[in-house]
Amino acid sequence: MSDCLFCKIISGEIPSTKVYEDDLVYAFRDINPQTPVHVLVIPKKHFASIDEIDRAEDREIAACLRAVRLIARHENLEKGYRVISNCGPDACQSVPHLHFHILGGRKMSDQMA
Ligand code: AMP
Ligand code: ZN
Repeated sequence: MSDCLFCKIISGEIPSTKVYEDDLVYAFRDINPQTPVHVLVIPKKHFASIDEIDRAEDREIAACLRAVRLIARHENLEKGYRVISNCGPDACQSVPHLHFHILGGRKMSDQMA
């Protein structure tokens, strides 16, 4: 998607602080971190959100979640972390390219929303 912010980050057109990359996944630090560790994990293939995924995307989704685990270990989140994917307007999704937030590095609220 030529006008998608995260597709431009994957292509390098917009700079980012990369933390992980493989053939299916790209991960980078959130520009406005909500916790000491705040990483975004995205599939290289463009989907707007979880609402758009299908069986055809099983590999991409599995690769994203496997990357979450690798990144959590690399970022020393052994005390735990939260994984969030905002989907649609009620969830305040602001970038329409599927992404998983990894939040960690401090004790978080027991309120999820
Ligand atoms: P969401 O609100 O769930 O769609 O999350 C989008 C996230 O993208 C927010 O946490 C933003 O801070 C983050 N973000 C927006 N632009 C950039 C950028 N250029 N580099 C890194 N993170 C970004
Ligand atoms: Zn995109």
